[in-house]
Amino acid sequence: MRTLIIGDVTITSIIERDGPWRTPQAMFPAYDPAIGAEHLKTLAPEVFDPVTGQMVITYQTFVVRTPRHTVLVDTCTGDHKGYPAPMDFDKQPWLDNFKKAGLSFEAITHVFCTHLHIDHCGWNTVLRDGRWVPTFPNAKYIFHKGEYAAWEALTKAGKSPPGNVWTYNCLPIVEAGQALLVDDTYALDETFTLIPTPGHSPCHCCVDIHSKGQRAIVTGDLMHHALQVRVPELYTIFDTDTAAGISSRHRFFESVVDTPAVVLPVHFPNPTAGRITTLGKGYDYTFLR
Ligand SMILES: [Zn+2]
Repeated sequence: MRTLIIGDVTITSIIERDGPWRTPQAMFPAYDPAIGAEHLKTLAPEVFDPVTGQMVITYQTFVVRTPRHTVLVDTCTGDHKGYPAPMDFDKQPWLDNFKKAGLSFEAITHVFCTHLHIDHCGWNTVLRDGRWVPTFPNAKYIFHKGEYAAWEALTKAGKSPPGNVWTYNCLPIVEAGQALLVDDTYALDETFTLIPTPGHSPCHCCVDIHSKGQRAIVTGDLMHHALQVRVPELYTIFDTDTAAGISSRHRFFESVVDTPAVVLPVHFPNPTAGRITTLGKGYDYTFLR
């Protein structure tokens, strides 16, 4: 993704992994192959690999530099987590791209996770001398308190597969005194606020970035693929509350359709950034080129 300038804020991407990943059939239980095939014919070529029949899915972190803060939004799968294949991504690309973005671990002032799935909070911690410690020593880590509580409860009830995301990626942050547990009304500064978009996870939030009349929204996993913009009813196998996710997508698309607001969905491949536009009676995703 090209560096995006939103007034006084710049946004860049750090990619961990990209390429063909899952078929729509495997990802969306309500997928209709005939309807899907029609959409895929007219979607941007970057989003689908006709050879494998798989959607192209990227895993990336967004670096948001506001006038006062350097924020990582979502931290991919991370290192040393021991996830089985295919989630055992090579960690070097993320580290190399982090460096290429001119960053050091010490320079990060905040980390925000749109939600607490394994591919959004992995680099929160690293294993040092057998202990999970915060990767970014000077950062405050912002968690939605409802999202945090939900994963804490599920983990304590033994119902949080795969891995122990709360145990490894979240609890050590709280124990180190670096966590900020916030609600929907949180504002980091005058450029950075939250939009509650529950469904994919209990308290999933988008990040609303606004400066000098311009706006961008990091949409986390509100949608994983452009097919879900065409068909907001396509829920994923990973969603906590499918009906809430569908209404979050409708509400969000309605709020930004045909406006200049730039949308940044974490799993959309390069060029990633785009706009929600009108298509017939529904919506389309138009990449910024
Ligand atoms: Zn995800």
